[in-house]
Amino acid sequence: MDKYINVVLDAYYGYFDYLKNEILYPSWTNYFWWLLGLSAAVWLLEVVFPWREKQAIFRKDFWLDGFYMFFNFFLFSLIAYNAISNIAVEAFNDFLGVFGLENIVALHVETWPVWAQFLLLFVLADFIQWNVHRALHKYPALWEFHKVHHSVEEMGFAAHLRFHWVETIIYKTVQYIPLAMIGFSLVDFFIVHIFTTAIGHLNHANLKITYGPLKYILNNPIMHIWHHAKKLPEGTNGVNYGLTLSVWDYLFGTAYIPNEGKDEPLGFDGMETFPKSFWSQVTYPFIQKKK
Ligand SMILES: [Zn+2]
Ligand SMILES: [Zn+2]
Repeated sequence: MDKYINVVLDAYYGYFDYLKNEILYPSWTNYFWWLLGLSAAVWLLEVVFPWREKQAIFRKDFWLDGFYMFFNFFLFSLIAYNAISNIAVEAFNDFLGVFGLENIVALHVETWPVWAQFLLLFVLADFIQWNVHRALHKYPALWEFHKVHHSVEEMGFAAHLRFHWVETIIYKTVQYIPLAMIGFSLVDFFIVHIFTTAIGHLNHANLKITYGPLKYILNNPIMHIWHHAKKLPEGTNGVNYGLTLSVWDYLFGTAYIPNEGKDEPLGFDGMETFPKSFWSQVTYPFIQKKK
């Protein structure tokens, strides 16, 4: 038991020190400053080349989404996620120990070239996330959490990280075992994380970008706006589930881009009664369940 308490304390102190150092010492391998820099760059593009010219620079929910961005990217980890995941990993390893196993690495990729390791991690993680995202739309209990992300009415870069913290737990948990089997840890490769954050920001930005023929591989603002559209094609739970890659939607027939969707109304049915503030949005799914 002591071991688990120490894991929690180490996670807290370790993360607190880490966060402090991140903020105080900018560097090229620093998440905090990369997030700020990427956000400023994409926002600047929105200001200079807006797709919907009428949309305000400080669009609806700009500050709310900005808070979500820092909460989900940094604070949630600080408060709970690091501690929970370290305990889970520790417990999982103890569980493996019962069977005399030290780890579940089934495929040894450490002898591969680094670029091939990156590519495998990135493609595999993205495919797992695409499946998780589909599940968030399919199962009503999960959809209650995912509604926070779909309550965006005006798209802008910060909407990317507007989501319920339970999503972080779901995504990371589902990814853990497959990634651990090829020897990757929960800590993403820095470069992969920065790349996916940049594409995610762009997907939600007020920009008209499709990347030309690369649109069949990379998700983009025109494709993702249809993911947020209020009106879905008949008989579906959603379309365009891609996070960074769009290729899964094309492969599995969930791609849907009837037109460019510039002024398409966003959200879901019953939006009017959905809470508007951070606290009420993150507590909503729990209260909802009790009813
Ligand atoms: Zn969604
Ligand atoms: Zn989105």
